[in-house]
Amino acid sequence: MSVTDQAFVTLAADDVYCQGALVLGQSLRNHKTSRKLAVLVTPEVSSGMRSVLSSVFDEVIEVDVLDSADSVHLALMQRPELGVTFTKLHCWTLTHYSKCVFMDADTLVLCNVDELFDREEFSAAPDSGWPDCFNSGVFVFRPSLRTYNLLLRFAAEHGSFDGGDQGLLNSFFSNWATADIGKHLPFLYNLSSSSVYTYVPAFNHFGRDAKVVHFLGATKPWNYKYNLQTRRVMQDGTTSGSFHQLSFLALWWNIYSASILPLLEKHQKMEDSE
Ligand code: UDP
Ligand code: MN
Repeated sequence: MSVTDQAFVTLAADDVYCQGALVLGQSLRNHKTSRKLAVLVTPEVSSGMRSVLSSVFDEVIEVDVLDSADSVHLALMQRPELGVTFTKLHCWTLTHYSKCVFMDADTLVLCNVDELFDREEFSAAPDSGWPDCFNSGVFVFRPSLRTYNLLLRFAAEHGSFDGGDQGLLNSFFSNWATADIGKHLPFLYNLSSSSVYTYVPAFNHFGRDAKVVHFLGATKPWNYKYNLQTRRVMQDGTTSGSFHQLSFLALWWNIYSASILPLLEKHQKMEDSE
């Protein structure tokens, strides 16, 4: 049964991150989500990428930092480091959905996670670096223009303590740590690939139940090299990945090579023949 008023939402601010969004979207499809898939794109995303995105996502929605220039927007524009923050906040404007789950473009689902829609705004998993903060790579929210405007005003007045969306959202939803344990998603819904090696025994004990992997940090899966013949992620001297990290990377690359590359190539051929 499909649920048309709820959606998984991600963000691709450029063509590079579109690769992540496509793999995430495909992983949700592979695990037969009953919810809609929506991706927010900025004007920077090429029309070619948009049409590939639309073959995986139900909706490709352009969001523009400059579209309704009121004073709050202008105040934000003087803070270029909040650019991506601002863009993610647009997810609250998707009011044709009653509830959504936002997922970063560098996440990947390992199984069906539709039960996340049983949770209420604002639900998120602890951040592995500072567990009294949530990680803003996966969260449950209710689209609302009122909340959107409150968030914009808050951003303009207080900024973000980390310069990104995570600092802002943690200050805004500041009672997350203490108010309602039901709003703490299990860490398994936002398993940062780095915590695999910072607490190995826990990973060995619980890791088999991981539901969402988050490739947070500077090096994203698409920055690695992958051998299409051997189906292996190639390690150079700088990647000291554990076996499990490498297997998550290999999973990302399997989806990319099996489902996304053919889409990109098909689209390229269509463009070339035009
Ligand atoms: N993002 C993007 N382009 C960028 C940076 C960020 O599209 O250049 C979006 C994308 O959805 C990404 C999210 O913003 O997953 C948060 O950034 P990132 O995942 O790089 O941060 P991290 O999880 O590593 O802290
Ligand atoms: Mn991320």
